Amino acid sequence: MTTDTIQIGISDLTVQYGPVTALDSVSMTIRAGATTAVLGANGAGKTTLLRTISGLIRPKAGSITFGGKELVGVSPDRMSRKGLAHVPEGRGVIAELTVEENLRLGALGRNRAHDAVTLDQVYDIFVPLAGRRTSSAHTLSGGERQMLVIGRALMATPSVLLLDEPSLGLAPKIVAQIFEIIATLVDAQSMTVVLVEQNARSALSIAEHAVVLDLGKVAVEGPATVLAQDPALRHAYLGF
Ligand code: ATP
Repeated sequence: MTTDTIQIGISDLTVQYGPVTALDSVSMTIRAGATTAVLGANGAGKTTLLRTISGLIRPKAGSITFGGKELVGVSPDRMSRKGLAHVPEGRGVIAELTVEENLRLGALGRNRAHDAVTLDQVYDIFVPLAGRRTSSAHTLSGGERQMLVIGRALMATPSVLLLDEPSLGLAPKIVAQIFEIIATLVDAQSMTVVLVEQNARSALSIAEHAVVLDLGKVAVEGPATVLAQDPALRHAYLGF
């Protein structure tokens, strides 16, 4: 693999919360313009991995490079300007603000390396939000909120989208809709996506590559289609 196809390189990353080792010498590569699914059971270290990539957690050891430059030690707000957008679990919107006001907030930490993503582009991607632009965010359904937090992240014009459990608590039909939009972002806009998911089956259906974490270590890594078709792996780690 040439270095220009590696967008994020992670090597020997170790993260501790006091005595708890959440990531134990984790190494992986995130390819540019593709979706990498990060799978694993509760407590495997998936959220910790995303929070460490986006600068919210300082690792005890290891390195994270983005386009060949070291990221460890870079503050989360500078990450956003460099083109990394993190959509945390839980769909945190500002409930009192309208949909459009929430979206505009996303443009504040914008990556200026590319032409700005416009509100109209976000409404084209997330059509249900277009009709709700003046509604308070607290009136949105779970699926619409998930669209809003991803849309807000897109307003920063990222090249990399870190998504933490976007399917959590959503009906299967809405999950399918959101995953289809993620796949379109990757295909049509060459976005790089790191998709943390408990819903392994759906994640593998849109990912090119997958990494399974188990108790803070990389248990398996490979093409998504290979993992999805391996009955032993599915039984041991993926729950389907
Ligand atoms: P989940 O799907 O439940 O969110 P996960 O794979 O995202 O799980 P993490 O949330 O990254 O896993 O947790 C990895 C380990 O670190 C677990 O053992 C968890 O209990 C521990 N942990 C996570 N956050 C903290 C914290 N703030 N303080 C102490 N331990 C933590």
